[in-house]
Amino acid sequence: MVDCRGCGDELARDANFCPRCGLRTEKGERESVRTPVTPRPEWEKDMATALNNATRLINDAFQAARSGLQAVADEVGVEIEKVRGQATRDLAPVYCPKCGNRNPGDSLYCVRCGGKLQP
Ligand SMILES: [Zn+2]
Ligand SMILES: [Zn+2]
Repeated sequence: MVDCRGCGDELARDANFCPRCGLRTEKGERESVRTPVTPRPEWEKDMATALNNATRLINDAFQAARSGLQAVADEVGVEIEKVRGQATRDLAPVYCPKCGNRNPGDSLYCVRCGGKLQP
């Protein structure tokens, strides 16, 4: 028989924990038996609840911030599209009204016939 190192209680040979004080026995230690998670005291539950609430609030805040950011991102996206459309229009090829030649977008005169191009 082995005695518990914590309370001196007699332990069964195959016990990993003392049935009286819950201390892990030498056998339990030798076999690396995990100490069970003890039930949480009340204040810890309150703490967990408070944490959960805080987490929810933070998530809500993030959610709000994200939708706000999304709106901004949408606006920026629209602006970018506008600018891009502008740039594309500027760079779109210009066809000569006289000879039909395809000229680079920023051409003022036809590269083929020299005719003035429409802006
Ligand atoms: Zn004990
Ligand atoms: Zn031309």
